[in-house]
Amino acid sequence: MGERPVILVLLGPPGAGKGTQGERLVRRIAVDHVSTGDLFRDAVTAGSPAGLRAESYLHSGQLVPDQVVLQVIEEYLGVARGRDTCFDGFPRTRNQAEKLDDLLKQFNLAVTAVIYFNVPDDVALTRLLSRGREDDTEETARYRLQVYHEDTAPLIDYYRDAGVLIEVDGSGGVEPVAQRVWTALKNAIR
Ligand code: AMP
Repeated sequence: MGERPVILVLLGPPGAGKGTQGERLVRRIAVDHVSTGDLFRDAVTAGSPAGLRAESYLHSGQLVPDQVVLQVIEEYLGVARGRDTCFDGFPRTRNQAEKLDDLLKQFNLAVTAVIYFNVPDDVALTRLLSRGREDDTEETARYRLQVYHEDTAPLIDYYRDAGVLIEVDGSGGVEPVAQRVWTALKNAIR
């Protein structure tokens, strides 16, 4: 990879495969994997202040308030100091995306590419209900998809307009999707 740090964003509905594909990608290109969902789940388990603030949101499938999310991201960027990074599940609102751009600018960085995993709701829902996480009851899963469409899906156009969107068909098995991601991404990160 070149000299400029690579900043990737994985975008798509819950159940799109961001976590699974993110794991593979970070092994392949050795970038930090920053999953805000994982960070919040860890914080809840640890009972830390951020965890206490986030717990009811995670449980109900609502978004954690932007302010709390952005604090976590700001702390990360301060420590990472321009390491190659793959954000997974962040940003999730237009405000988060704009603040991320501002923060990155302060570190003389910018989003390199956004991988948008396009999967129909029925595929996402089937995947969510088969993985059995605590926030994956049918009611919560459906609600999280609704939140995605209302708050997060507008980021597709936001990043398309910025010229960094890479759309990948996220349906099907892990291997073919990983192959599609890699084919689409390798030119963008040279
Ligand atoms: P995930 O593991 O990405 O599906 O996230 C699980 C839960 O964590 C979400 O349903 C939200 O409650 C919370 N969460 C994770 N990332 C964010 C974010 N960027 N903004 C707001 N809430 C988030």
